[in-house]
Amino acid sequence: MRLEGIHHVTAITGDAPQNVDFYARVLGLRLVKKTVNQDDPTVYHLFYADELGSAGADITFFEYPGARNGRAGAGMVHRVVWRVGSEEALDFWLDRLAAEGIASDREGGSVRFADPEGLELELRVAENADEPLVARHPEIPPALALQGFDGVRAFSLDPRASRRFLEGTLAFEPRDGDTWEVRGDRRGGFYAYDPAPGPGVGGAGTVHHVAWASPMGEHEAWRDRVRAAGGGPTDVIDRFYFRSIYFREPSGVLFEIATIGPGFTVDEPLDTLGEALSLPPNYRHLRDRLEGVLTPLPTTRELAERR
Ligand code: ZN
Repeated sequence: MRLEGIHHVTAITGDAPQNVDFYARVLGLRLVKKTVNQDDPTVYHLFYADELGSAGADITFFEYPGARNGRAGAGMVHRVVWRVGSEEALDFWLDRLAAEGIASDREGGSVRFADPEGLELELRVAENADEPLVARHPEIPPALALQGFDGVRAFSLDPRASRRFLEGTLAFEPRDGDTWEVRGDRRGGFYAYDPAPGPGVGGAGTVHHVAWASPMGEHEAWRDRVRAAGGGPTDVIDRFYFRSIYFREPSGVLFEIATIGPGFTVDEPLDTLGEALSLPPNYRHLRDRLEGVLTPLPTTRELAERR
C-alpha cells in the first residue's frame, strides 16, 4: 500500500472574504466547495482546488472570524509548496504578486511569499510527470497556473523521532536530508522537516493539518496499520466528500488520511461547484438560519470586477 501524495491541506483564516479574494482571484484556484465546519456550522469550511476539485490540489480553510494571526512552530506545517510548469511561470507569478503589492523571493526554481495572514507559500517548477491539476482563470494562462501540491514543510524538534513511523508505518520513502517522498500509483508529493524555531501558536495563517490520499479500498487498512503502530487514529469519520482518520505523527504534526472520493460532485454539479452553500445532510434543516449568520462572501462575478 502506498499513499497517493497529499489529499488536502487545511489551514485557518480569520477573514473569509479576504481569503476568497486571495486564493480564488489572486492565485487563481477554483472555490470548489463552500460549506460549514462540521463541528461548528456557524462558520465556513472553504475548499479551493483545480477545475475538477481533485485531491492533490485542494487547500481548505476553517474560518474563525476575527482570529488573530498565529505563528508556526514545532509540530506544525509551516509552508505549502505548489508546482508550476516552468521558469516562465515563475516570471509570471513574480509580476502578478508584485502587481498585488505582495512581496516575494525568487531563488533557484522557486518563488516564496505569504498569504495575507502570513501563511508561507512557495511555487516550484515541477520535476515529475504527475498530471497538472489546473483551475481556469481569465487572467492566468493554463500553462502558467498552479498545478497542485508539490509538498509541505513542517517544523520538528527531533525529526529522528518520526523516521520509523513515517517509513515503517506510512511507507514514506526517504530522500535527501529530512525529506520523504509519498508516492502512489498516480501521484506523489514530499514531506520535509526544518528545525523548529520554538513552540508555535495556532491562529489565522497557520496550518491545522495535512491529509494524505488513500484509494477508497485501502482506507480501513491504513487505519489498522496506524493503530498497530500505536499511532492512536480516530475512528473513520464520514466527511461526506471523503472519509477521514486523524492522528499525530511523532513530531506532533496532525495528519489525516482521506479517501480519494466520493468527491465534491456528490451534492452539486461540476459546473457550479462552490457557488451555493453546501450543507451536509445533518445540517440541511438549518439552512435559513445559517445563511443569516455566515459571513457574506464575494461572488465569482464580484471577484471578476476587481480585475
Ligand atoms: Zn482535513
